[in-house]
Formats: sequence, C-alpha cells, structure tokens
Amino acid sequence: MTLIILFQTRSCIYIDRVYKEKKVETLISQAMKSFQKSWGIGLDNLETGGLKKMSKINYCPICRTSLVEKKMEGKTRLACSADSCGYIYWDSPIPVVAGIVEYNGTVILARNKSWHKKMFGLITGFLEKDESPETGILREVKEELGLTGKTVKLVGLYPFAMMNQLIIAYHVSAEGDIQLGEEIAEIKCLEPARLKPWDFGTGLAIRDWLLSLDNKE
Ligand SMILES: [Zn+2]
Repeated sequence: MTLIILFQTRSCIYIDRVYKEKKVETLISQAMKSFQKSWGIGLDNLETGGLKKMSKINYCPICRTSLVEKKMEGKTRLACSADSCGYIYWDSPIPVVAGIVEYNGTVILARNKSWHKKMFGLITGFLEKDESPETGILREVKEELGLTGKTVKLVGLYPFAMMNQLIIAYHVSAEGDIQLGEEIAEIKCLEPARLKPWDFGTGLAIRDWLLSLDNKE
C-alpha cells in the first residue's frame, strides 16, 4: 500500500486515500512538479508543511465486515465481504466549490494554516447538504474572508482525479471588510495580471478565467 498526498479541499492539505495504482503516483509526481513551478516548493517541504495521513476505508460502514476488492462490470471496486450486506464503496468524486474572489480589482489567494508558507490557493470548500454550489461558494467566501459576494458566475467544472473531486469554480466579486476565518493564515491580493495559474485542480479555473478576461479586451 502506498500513501498518497492530496491537497486542498476544505482548504486543508490532507491525505484520505491509499492507492495501489502506479498511475496515481504519476499524477502526484506531475502535481509536485507543478507545485515546484508555481510556488517554488518541492515535496519534502510540502511534507513538513502539514500533510496528514489517513488510511483508506477498510471496513464496511454498515456491518463493519472487511471490504474486499470485487470485479464489477469491468471495474474493481471495494465491496463488503458479507454476502448478506451488499455494501459497495463507490468512491464517487466529491464536489468542491472554488472561488476566484475579486476584491478591489485584485484576486484573493489564501494560505491555510496547515500549508507551507509559500503555498496559496483559491477559496475552496466542500458543498454542504441541501446547498446549491452558488450558495456554497458564497458561504465559504464569507467564512474564510469575511466578505460578501455580490455576483457569482460559473467559470467551469474541473475533474481533479488525484483528489477524486469535481471542482465547481466560480468568479465571485466581493465587498466588505476582510476578516480571516480561523483556517486561514494569510492572504495575498494580486492583480489578475500577476496570477500564474498552476496546471491542475483550481489552477485550471484561474487559467480559464484569465483567458476570458483576454477575450473581453
Ligand atoms: Zn457490510
């Protein structure tokens, strides 16, 4: 079994799955190169930046019997080994909302308290139950920055295989007085021209948003 690094959901770095496939390790190595390029930090530094380790699901959440790998319609899935139970761990992607928050002509990037000090990202968070993605990103902007979103516009949907997430990215123009939430260590306010998108996860949303600005000009 191999431990895997995953980044950025409820604006924290964490590890929540164990992969056996080499393919994922390739993804990680690509992501690490991207981190190096965007933030000038490598894996060793990131590890000291607050990565946490957790193991994958091993037991059935219904009956607590061990999960085993089963072939189903050409895919290998984890399923409960008790015939009477039938639980399958689908491992579906988790929706995450992300916000390119525009504030006084700048875009706000935030650093979570558990992150390396050079690492900044968009405001992100898990959708909550019964919440629309638009409401979710406005809630996150309020919680993490203390700002009120005035407009919310979808930038795009970004499957993030390494994290098993679907990122739903918005452009949010926000107003108010900044008051950082307890998860946020510091923020940067960058003019759009100074944004350098990273080539995975939320970085792709920044890339597309910047392209849309270019097209408007
Ligand atoms: Zn079970």
